[in-house]
Amino acid sequence: MAFFRSKDPLVYLGIIILILGLGFATYGFVPVTSAAYQRIPTPVYVPLTDSQGNFISVGQAQEKAITMFNGTANSVVCIVASSDYTCYGEIYTGMMTSTDNSAKLLGGAMSALGLASFYLGYRYEPLTIKKRELRSIRIRVDEDICIANGVCVELAPSVFQLKKQVVPSLLAPLAYVVDPYGASNDEILQAAQMCPTGAIIIEDAETGERIHPPLPNG
Ligand code: SF4
Repeated sequence: MAFFRSKDPLVYLGIIILILGLGFATYGFVPVTSAAYQRIPTPVYVPLTDSQGNFISVGQAQEKAITMFNGTANSVVCIVASSDYTCYGEIYTGMMTSTDNSAKLLGGAMSALGLASFYLGYRYEPLTIKKRELRSIRIRVDEDICIANGVCVELAPSVFQLKKQVVPSLLAPLAYVVDPYGASNDEILQAAQMCPTGAIIIEDAETGERIHPPLPNG
């Protein structure tokens, strides 16, 4: 397929996120385990106040209600009413596993993110461009053909300089590399391309491949 021609990692990352997102959106397979209870149909009633007229909190009402169920309820839920607490007993029936709806929402968001990542990677190849820019290069000046006109020094002075003459000489000072990291690869390449004699030689530092000037059979 056409999009596999792109080598940008963002394309493949987008595909992985998209597949995962569709999986989540379709199945929502994030399991959620929780305790399951069966409600006892008949509630018990707890007064809102005790014998001294003090108000009873929900927690205190639940404690009273649980004793009123005589051990048949594992938990109670009390709802305050106008004259008392209405407390429902619940019997524990075991653990229950279900899927969370939020997983489906997450899946939808992931699918959108995957599509965006895929599109950006395919359309702009941002990671590939970055890698290309960070390519490590080796630079040297061929002194046998440098005519010392200083074009490279003008274009990339942080990288190229003309040698200082220690003793007076009729020969013009040749160019040399003062700092190979003094400019971006693009700027260095541009300086090399403007060199009238092709004296600036650029190679891939890792592979030794000639980048500029091209080899006669390259
Ligand atoms: S542009 Fe080329 S010829 Fe001119 S000084 Fe630089 S290396 Fe030498």
